[in-house]
Amino acid sequence: MIPIIPYLCGMEWNGKRYHAAKEPGLKLVLDAGFSCPGRCTFCDNAAFHPSYSTPSKSITQQLEEGIAFHAARGRTGGPYLAYFQSFSNTFAPLGRLREVYAEALAHPAVSGLVIGTRPDCVDAEKLDYIASLGCARMEYGIESCRDETLRRVQRGHGFACAEQAVRETAARGIPVCGHFILGLPGETRETLLEDVSRINALPLDSVKFHQLQLLKGTPMAGEFAARPEDFVRWTLDGYIDLLVDILERLRPGIAVGRLAASVPPRFLAVPGWGVKAAEFSRLLDARMVGRDTWQGRKA
Ligand code: SF4
Repeated sequence: MIPIIPYLCGMEWNGKRYHAAKEPGLKLVLDAGFSCPGRCTFCDNAAFHPSYSTPSKSITQQLEEGIAFHAARGRTGGPYLAYFQSFSNTFAPLGRLREVYAEALAHPAVSGLVIGTRPDCVDAEKLDYIASLGCARMEYGIESCRDETLRRVQRGHGFACAEQAVRETAARGIPVCGHFILGLPGETRETLLEDVSRINALPLDSVKFHQLQLLKGTPMAGEFAARPEDFVRWTLDGYIDLLVDILERLRPGIAVGRLAASVPPRFLAVPGWGVKAAEFSRLLDARMVGRDTWQGRKA
């Protein structure tokens, strides 16, 4: 009898044992000068900016410099996505959103928008407009499925708000991605694994996970210094095992856009693992093969 090997029977996506999201273009990161209704205790936006992305430049100039940034690294030809990444990119009146999105879409090389924002910064009118563009995708910072955690990091909204935003976005046919941070204070391996069922219940097309990075000068870095026992700090090896456990529980229909993050070391209050993205990906793939598992095996 020939054994049935699930990996060879369709449990592979883009050469991975998890449903790796396939980006429809190169992202050009933009800072349109938006802000946020409040500051989360873990956040320092400066840690995530490429050098060309600053609100003192027009959207068009940032796009041009973003294209040059990619070209200098051998990535040319597009298609390109205008990625409104910094702060909350729907936190402004609709008229202002129309202006900035229209400027990005007027660039001949740009084929779509990716709009990063908070769940409490959208409403029906904004979502109707974004849906009408027909080429925009939303990325919501959800960060945690637990209200207690969201309160503790001063997020300013609860999980129900995220659920509603994701549902209203998906209902309009807009592709929607959710970001989650693994390792916020008070959360453990057990709570994170439990919460995958809440993620699965959302109509998300994709997710991004990353480990908590403690950034210099943030209130959370101070909180960690004062109460380290409230934080689970994973080794690289332990984090990879956590990810595999999460992926096993994650609905196969949800694509995975990111599994770890790394900011430049000068921003870190606590040193990171110092591993490059390609090596991280190789280690994760090897662990999934080693554990003979795949995304959704336990969903
Ligand atoms: S909503 Fe996002 S950008 Fe704004 S403070 Fe929180 S983490 Fe930072």
